[in-house]
Amino acid sequence: MNGEKLAIWQRRDCPTWCATRHRHTDAPVNRGCEYEPPGVPVSLWQAQAGGENLGPQLPTVTTALEWGQREIEPRLALSTPDTVTELTLEEADALSRLLARMVHEAREAVREVGP
Ligand SMILES: [Zn+2]
Repeated sequence: MNGEKLAIWQRRDCPTWCATRHRHTDAPVNRGCEYEPPGVPVSLWQAQAGGENLGPQLPTVTTALEWGQREIEPRLALSTPDTVTELTLEEADALSRLLARMVHEAREAVREVGP
């Protein structure tokens, strides 16, 4: 976590977004900075084919920034209840621009032809 004394294994200060409280005794797999903002509930989630009926659900899509001590830059984890996809910053940036463009085009279509 930013502003705290470094754990013995830390090679650099935490980024401002790090919400992890690091300890000297952290296992190597847990020696990274992380931030996970609240997720986005999605209402158009498709139930798994052949799966049991779990009743009404409002799954959440979450994002997290993760930066391991030996990684040159953070990565972004995009998670749904069933999957986790990790992206480089370049990939996350490209995806965010694509999503923004698609939302813009879809809203333009609604404006042109109506709902
Ligand atoms: Zn950290």
